[in-house]
Amino acid sequence: MTKTYNVAVLKGDGIGPEVTEAAVQVLDAVQATSDGFKLNYLYGEAGFRCIAEHGTNLPTETVALLKRTVACLKGPMTTPEEPGAPVSVAVTLRRMFNLYANVRPCRSFPNVESLKPNLDFVVVRENTEGLYSGVEFLLAPGVGVALRIITHDASLRVAEFAFKLAENRKKRLTYIHKGNILRVTDGIFKDAVKEAAQKHSDVVIEELHIDAATMQLIKRPETFDVIVTTNLFGDILSDEAAQVTGSLGLAAGANIGDTYGMFEPVHGSAPKYTGMNRVNPIATIMAAAMMLDYLGEKEASHKIESAVLSVLREGRVRTADLGGTSTTTQMTDAITSRVTK
Ligand code: NAD
Repeated sequence: MTKTYNVAVLKGDGIGPEVTEAAVQVLDAVQATSDGFKLNYLYGEAGFRCIAEHGTNLPTETVALLKRTVACLKGPMTTPEEPGAPVSVAVTLRRMFNLYANVRPCRSFPNVESLKPNLDFVVVRENTEGLYSGVEFLLAPGVGVALRIITHDASLRVAEFAFKLAENRKKRLTYIHKGNILRVTDGIFKDAVKEAAQKHSDVVIEELHIDAATMQLIKRPETFDVIVTTNLFGDILSDEAAQVTGSLGLAAGANIGDTYGMFEPVHGSAPKYTGMNRVNPIATIMAAAMMLDYLGEKEASHKIESAVLSVLREGRVRTADLGGTSTTTQMTDAITSRVTK
């Protein structure tokens, strides 16, 4: 019997539409090879380009549309930086759907220069609180305060998630904080990780301060398996990790909650490349593969991943970020043809 999944597609801003359409092309190709499942795409408006018309980057119709779906493929969006402007769509969706674990696989790809060969680790970042709680105010002119909210419950559920992931991988978990300075907030985070550890005694744990961790990620990236940390530290570490393992154009991320998943490239909307057909679509294509894995369509997910690896291994089609001259379209077509082979 064919399973049908309603999935939302938000194309985003800048290079978002190009890379999202590329991922949908690959998703269409993989569905054509299997009669086991079908994706029913629901396209929604969101992002910077909505603000002028709707006064928000996430219109209520889009929220209603998302609620009719089980997962979302989200293109990168431009986030305005002025005080009072709408907060990032990604941050709003993470809170709205309680997508508490941000999962960013960091691995080396064939023919892509990485700091060391054969890297394969995952950064799991708490996704709903910390310095991204969005509670910021002016105390007096020139004096601003941002609240770094850390709760035991949110820390425990993300720690649980990370331990379960580690159990299915190399059974190593590194938890990262700055508890020597942020004693209250990171004290809560540390205690929650230790509590979760009691149920996962087969996982070897390591503790690092964030400043040491940024250095160790460069010095010995091959020793990491699963990293778990708070929101801002995780955001910074996972971008560093994307560079350690290759290009930002290859890195994908998942935002997972108990009942919903949102999948996106790690990179932003790279406005200067809009419409130029030159950026790498692989990050968004890998995000689409993660979405299929989340939906339980493991074989289809694996097919996409293998097609990406095969195109990279062959090395004939390379976008500018990988030192080549191929276009977004050429990369997408090469991956699509491997999927259908
Ligand atoms: P960015 O990731 O958009 O671009 C930084 C640089 O990375 C680009 O100039 C380009 O050289 C390279 N790059 C990015 N994507 C690439 C791809 N697919 N292929 C090849 N090279 C690629 O970061 P930025 O310039 O700091 O941010 C631009 C906008 O994106 C901002 O408004 C920011 O808020 C937003 N942003 C959104 C998200 C998201 O929606 N999840 C994430 C990060 C940044």
